[in-house]
Amino acid sequence: METRLENCLFCKIIDNKEPSEKIYEDDYVTCIKDINPVSTHHYLILPNKHIRNAKELKIEDAELYDKIVSIVDTIIERQGLDPGNTRTGFHWPPFNTVNHLHLHVISPVENMSALRRFMFKPNSYWFVSTDYVKSLLHSCS
Ligand SMILES: [Zn+2]
Ligand SMILES: [Zn+2]
Repeated sequence: METRLENCLFCKIIDNKEPSEKIYEDDYVTCIKDINPVSTHHYLILPNKHIRNAKELKIEDAELYDKIVSIVDTIIERQGLDPGNTRTGFHWPPFNTVNHLHLHVISPVENMSALRRFMFKPNSYWFVSTDYVKSLLHSCS
């Protein structure tokens, strides 16, 4: 069911072929700590299936997409984050870092530097919200 890509760092992490700190894992989704945290808490929620980026999500991925987004609440609860002070979003191509879709969960916002706040600026050309991606998934059906 899951499809991994050879030479993809996140696919290797999902398969435990690369070290990482996993804080959540199920059949569809894996959540790891970002190795370069930009605040006290910085997590990445990955689909176990290799999808390059948010732009390449297809309508048949809608269920998986909802699953990814639903894990945000799980992470907030497990890690004791303040939901009102947590930033989430996706890189928008060509501004991706790793070419495996990942949803950033960053908290608290005030611990981010000005540069990082800019890099992870909600609804910018380079960083988009979960609602924005969801709206695209619906409009392309
Ligand atoms: Zn991958
Ligand atoms: Zn990233």
